[in-house]
Amino acid sequence: MYTPALEHLCIVMVETSHPGNIGSAARAMKVMGIQDLRLVAPRKPYSQDTWALASGANDIIEQAKIVPTLQDAVADCHIVIGASARSERTLQWPQMDSRECGVFVAEHLPQQKIALVFGRERSGLTNEELDHCNTLVHIPMAFDFFSLNIAMAIQVLAYECATAVRLAMPSETTPPDPDDALASAESMESFYTHLEQSMIATRFLDPENPRLLMRRLRRLFGRAGVTVSEMNILRGMLAAFAGRKFQTRE
Ligand code: SAH
Repeated sequence: MYTPALEHLCIVMVETSHPGNIGSAARAMKVMGIQDLRLVAPRKPYSQDTWALASGANDIIEQAKIVPTLQDAVADCHIVIGASARSERTLQWPQMDSRECGVFVAEHLPQQKIALVFGRERSGLTNEELDHCNTLVHIPMAFDFFSLNIAMAIQVLAYECATAVRLAMPSETTPPDPDDALASAESMESFYTHLEQSMIATRFLDPENPRLLMRRLRRLFGRAGVTVSEMNILRGMLAAFAGRKFQTRE
């Protein structure tokens, strides 16, 4: 789904070593509707891996800006969020988890331009680079001594941001389908009468010894939350079992 607000979100990759990771990152962005990729001094030129892993996201790589420093990459951004594989930096820099980051981004787009910054595969972001970030984001992992592959980290954060932005958008109000409304109490009552009569007619229910059958069935159908269209099916079935056609009443 195309979400215009995401035009104001860019992904920055700092000194990426593996050209394949740039391709995978482009794909991760593309599927979430994020277009703007900025590369700070990539270590190697694009390779076959870049294009192979980008799959259908070549346009993102073709339009990617290549700049010498992080400062250049984020110059036009109002908020810079650094993605950190470590969580113990909390004391020095404010840190969010990935879900909080999505909500934060959704709150500030599209008025503000936001950059999500990802570090080197081996060493992450330097402290000087973190100084250019307003806040950090960490994707919680089962083990703190591991880190995610950079493109996978981009995927997780792109997903969180795109989802939060979509949820924050005023939803299109499609008029409710009247057939999806719950059947009225009156219609449930006529159904129970019909059901009881059918069960008596087929001798499934002995009116001299009804036990708790009807109450149990009421409980069953009461729990189900039967809709108008489902009620039509139930009544139609009972009528068909008795060899008659049922006229819908709602
Ligand atoms: N050994 C490096 C790991 C770098 S992984 C370090 O300790 O920093 C490459 C990049 O992927 C990281 O700089 C970060 O931007 C991103 N990344 C990896 N795992 C992440 C996580 N759990 N949360 C947020 N970003 C993560």
